[in-house]
Formats: sequence, structure tokens, C-alpha cells
Amino acid sequence: MKYDDAIKKYDPVIGIEVHVELGTATKMFDAAPNTFGGGPNSNITPTSLGLPGSLPVVNAKGVEYAIRIGLALGCEIAESCRFARKNYFYPDVPKDFQTSQYDEPIAAEGSVEIELEDGTPFTIPIERAHMEEDAGKNTHVGGATGRIHGADHSLVDYNRAGVPLVEIVTHPITGTGERAAEVAAAYVRTLRDIFRAIGVSEAKMEQGNVRADVNVSLRESPDAPLGTRTETKNVNSFRSIERAVRFEIARQATVLEAGESVVQETRHFHEDTGETTSGRVKSDADDYRYFPEPDLVPIVPSRTWVAEIKESLPELPAQKRRRLTGEWGFSDLEMRDIVNAGLLEAIEDTVVAGAPAPAARKWWTGEVARLANQREIHPTALVTPAQVAALVALLADGKLNDRLAKEVLAGVADGEGEPAEVMSARGLEIVEDTGALEAAVDEAIAANPDVVEKIRGGKMQAIGALMGPIMKATRGQADAGKAKELILAKING
Ligand code: ADP
Ligand code: MG
Repeated sequence: MKYDDAIKKYDPVIGIEVHVELGTATKMFDAAPNTFGGGPNSNITPTSLGLPGSLPVVNAKGVEYAIRIGLALGCEIAESCRFARKNYFYPDVPKDFQTSQYDEPIAAEGSVEIELEDGTPFTIPIERAHMEEDAGKNTHVGGATGRIHGADHSLVDYNRAGVPLVEIVTHPITGTGERAAEVAAAYVRTLRDIFRAIGVSEAKMEQGNVRADVNVSLRESPDAPLGTRTETKNVNSFRSIERAVRFEIARQATVLEAGESVVQETRHFHEDTGETTSGRVKSDADDYRYFPEPDLVPIVPSRTWVAEIKESLPELPAQKRRRLTGEWGFSDLEMRDIVNAGLLEAIEDTVVAGAPAPAARKWWTGEVARLANQREIHPTALVTPAQVAALVALLADGKLNDRLAKEVLAGVADGEGEPAEVMSARGLEIVEDTGALEAAVDEAIAANPDVVEKIRGGKMQAIGALMGPIMKATRGQADAGKAKELILAKING
């Protein structure tokens, strides 16, 4: 069954679990550095490996970051909470349990406001945000798919074991209808932006700093009880999240249409085909034998500390966007285009560097975006906000016109220097020298007596026919207004 048909017939419900790696200096329970890359098994201590006799110590910064996240999501911060052992055997978890939180998460019951690309708002209810540690990384060698099935042997790197994570779990998200897939992607994008804004993580999707598990179920109608869900694990880009939800909705509808039932299981998403395949069957009461972690004391964040952290939170992306829309006087649509193009910060910085907002917007979304697009890079990788502000200043000073400014921009993009340098080096400054301009005007007048006749007769638009030769003679650097004045003065004067 196709997604569009599935969505007409069934009401989708989604639930999203997002894991974010915190950008602390060290791991959650030991002093090993928390850095990406490095040789395999170089960022480890006996505690990372769970060696006998090693004991964990809680990373205070990790707790602070978890509280920051909880507060940014509007959650209640627990007066007291504990870590729990989630027991399971897997080679990348050397202790045979993951230190996590279970019935006492640090943050609970919040919400996140999101906006779809066309501006439709949606509220995502948050059930909890809890602290845990990441697992190491297995590499399965020899199989076709990189999965354990069919592999010759496996390698394990414990650098990531013990890296601080916060897991954010939504309540079941209902009422999305046909927009379920978009909502899922927009929600994770919003979280990514929040993590960056509050400084808890670089939140680089491509490095796996943010990973999402997407739960999907279908039901006959919005008042029917929730259907059986599947959980597609570790979907690591916004586009993949959207595709995975779409695929699952279509797949589950096909299963239901055939009179069969959806199996509650984990699934894997395949980037290449856009499909999900069956992982392991998972019941709600997975027997992880959770129990309170005996090696760690409960966490009791003082109310003063929580208040201090709340006080220190910066403006969140949604608030900032609302404020700037007002300050800049852009329409919602203009603002959305800026945000969707990832240009909000660049424009903000350009305005801070002195450019008026409309000019900053015009150049970033126009010529800069066009040049960047040709080179298949992001506009912010092409030029800096300071350079765009300098270009806008040269325009405002009358040293450049739009056409010349585009040439200067191309030079800046090619690494020829700052706008003023490129302007001088390429000789692009508007000709102020009236001598040169006058010569060009005289020449054009002499060469086009018929046009001159028309202008004398009052046909002002004929002036345009003289501008071509004048621009040509001055290599495009004539100030058009001045040239016009001169022409009229010479013909009528
Ligand atoms: P698990 O241990 O299976 O990962 P969690 O409670 O951590 O369970 O996360 C389950 C996620 O699935 C939550 O976001 C929850 O809201 C969502 N969910 C629960 N039931 C359903 C359902 N029937 N359909 C869709 N999502 C669901
Ligand atoms: Mg979970």
C-alpha cells in the first residue's frame, strides 16, 4: 500500500527516542577524554572497560547539561533521581550492563514547539529525559552489509563506551495525520537546534552525536486504542527519519490490509533502499532486570543550582526566530525561507556587523546562495558575515553598484581577499572620475545622433540606448545616475 493511501485509511501514531551525546570534556563516569576520533581503544580507563575493582564517579558537567536539556524542553527537574543498571550482554558493553536511569529520570513532562517547513506549528509532548552512557562500537568485518550476520569476525572499540548521553522520549504523538513523517523529522531538527543553542552538544548528525529511534503504529481511527508499534533504531539524518516513518506507515498498512498483525519489534533502516527490515522481537517488558546502581549515590540537584542553570539558558531558537522576525520586519514566509536555507545565523551576524537586515537577506539568499549552489557547498562556507556586511557597506557608500558587487563577491568567494581588496585589485570601483565618464558620454553622443534627436524631442527612455556604449567604455563602472545627468546636461544645455 502506498503512503498516501495508507494515511487515508489509518491514523498514524509516532513516538521518538532521541539520544544526544553531550560535549563534556570527559566521560560520564570516568576521567577518559570524551573526544571523537582517535585510535581505537585510546580514550579508555579501567572504568570505561568495567574492569574489576574500578568504580564510577558521576560527571557533574554531564548532570548540568542534562538539567539544561530538561529545562529547555520545559520539563520538571527531579528533586532526587537515581541511576539504574540496564543489564544485557553485548560485546560493546563491557560491564554487561549500561548505566542508565529507569523509574527516576532527571527530567520529566515537558513539550517542544516545532514548525513544519510550510510554517504549520505542532506541539510534541515529552515524557522524560534521562541520563545514560553510550556503548562502544562494534565493527563486523567480512559480511556484505556490515552487520553481524555473515561477518567473519568483529572488532570492538571502547572509545565511545561511557560517553555521556541524554535520551529524550516523547509521549505517543497523535494528530499528525498525513504529516507524521514531516513531524518526526522537524522534531529532531528542532532538538538538534536546541542542543546547539544551549551548548550541550555540537549535535553533528553525521558524527552520530544525535541519533533517533522512531516508533510507528497505525490504528483504524483517532479514537481507537493505540496499535502495535515498531521501533526503527538509529536513524541518523533528518531525511532518513522522514523516509523511515513513511516506509513503516506504508508497510504496516500493507500488513493490516492483508488481515495480518504488525509484530512489535525493532527494525533497521537502509539508506540505500529506503526500506526497514526486521531486527529483534521486543516486548514492552524487555527483561533488562533494571535495578538501582549500587555504586553511585542518588543525584539531588539543589533548587538553587537548577534555578541558576535556568537563569543561564540563552534564548531558544524558536524565541529568537520570533524576536528577529519582529526586529527585521520580514514576513513569516521570508523568515521561513531563511531558516530552511540555514541562513538565520549568517544573516543575524551580518546585521550585527552593521548591514541593514533587508540587504543582508538579499545578498545571502540571492547571489551568495547562487554561487554556493553552483559549487555545491553551503553559503556560509563561501563567504563570512563580515564580508557580506563589508560588501553591503561599499554598495551603500556608492562605491559599487549591484552588478559590480556581484563581481566583487565572486572574487571574495575565490579567495582573492576582502571585498575592498578585491574591488581595488580587480579595478571594480564605480568611476567617480568625471573626466573618464564625460569622455564616454561625449563619445556615445557623437556616435548616436539619431538617439540624441529622440531625447531632444522629449523621448526620455531613449537615454537607455546611450547607456550601453557608456557602460562598455567604462567597463561597467559608470554611476548610471551621474551618466544620465551628464547626457541631459550636454544635450539640453
Ligand atoms: P523502549 O524501551 O521500547 O525504547 P520507550 O518508552 O523508551 O520504550 O520508548 C517508546 C517510544 O514509543 C516512546 O516515544 C513512546 O511514546 C512511543 N510509543 C509507545 N507506544 C506507541 C504506539 N503504540 N505507537 C507509536 N509510538 C508509541
Ligand atoms: Mg527507549
